[in-house]
Amino acid sequence: MHAYLPTYDDVLRASQVLHGVAHRTPVFTSHTLNTQLGAQVFFKCENFQRIGAFKFRGGYNALSNLTPAQRKAGVVAFSSGNHAQAVALAAQLLGIKATIVMPHDAPAIKKTATLGYGAQVVEYDRYTQDREQVTQQLIKQHGFSLIPPFNHPDVIAGQGTAVKELLDEVGQLDRLYVPLGGGGLLSGSLLAAQALSPDCAVYGVEPESGNDAQQSLLQGKIVQIPAPHSIADGALTTALGNLTFQLIQRHVHDILTVTDAQLVQAMRFFAERMKMVVEPTGCLGAAAVIHSIVPVQGQRIGVLLSGGNVDLKTYAGLLAPADC
Ligand SMILES: *Cc1c(COP(=O)(O)O)cnc(C)c1O
Repeated sequence: MHAYLPTYDDVLRASQVLHGVAHRTPVFTSHTLNTQLGAQVFFKCENFQRIGAFKFRGGYNALSNLTPAQRKAGVVAFSSGNHAQAVALAAQLLGIKATIVMPHDAPAIKKTATLGYGAQVVEYDRYTQDREQVTQQLIKQHGFSLIPPFNHPDVIAGQGTAVKELLDEVGQLDRLYVPLGGGGLLSGSLLAAQALSPDCAVYGVEPESGNDAQQSLLQGKIVQIPAPHSIADGALTTALGNLTFQLIQRHVHDILTVTDAQLVQAMRFFAERMKMVVEPTGCLGAAAVIHSIVPVQGQRIGVLLSGGNVDLKTYAGLLAPADC
């Protein structure tokens, strides 16, 4: 549990920390889509961020804010996904030792990528061991600082820099659509949008089968759900954190959901029309716009494409028509 709720000032500080380190990712548009929807859509392409996802922003900002003593001891994170690579690369750039706790059956490609950034990988058996316990043991033994994937003020502030860049570049928006897992990206985006485009309605978009945040918003308290099944593997969190819940509850316009089939259609659109690889989770916001989950006509819309990491076999399998 963290008590400090970050503000837009923290996003501004993070953007200075990340200047010249994170990529200022491009904003792309599609004339075809704009014509089809009768709207103006701006895609902020974090699939082109370092490590292939926005998580580098939060990871690097969090590690930069450690004290000299904490840096010396090193950091630990549990993740088999983009957060692992974000912490590993940030640690390498800052000369900090990183240990990543991963399930023993995590895809080899993810393990290799994490090792490639110079991190140590500690494996655990997801059927017999609890990853939090494994991590706590490492912290007790080595004095590591835990870098959480979303519920941390510096992580939230770092993630908010993507939307700050988008709004600095395209100006005021009517709507902003953001992929939503544990809510770090959405929380940071809300802080940036609130400050730079206060009339913008910000939507979080979850997989339909993993709509814990939607339920939490309705019930006014953090709802925990069983591990969901969806191709959006970066948004399979079972609950928001105390910080992300507070920021989302305070500032979000609404939370929408999309199906796996809608995610696949969005992935296909990006491949065919925009020549971009966007991972399933990265398409959450876009799928809600493309399928007009709420009417979009006449609106200036920002969409955060959060990442592009999907192994080729999965990608090809999802995009191939059933008959080939
Ligand atoms: C982690 C991740 C998300 C979800 O971010 P949260 O901060 O957990 O809400 C969305 N898309 C991608 C590509 C991710 O890696």
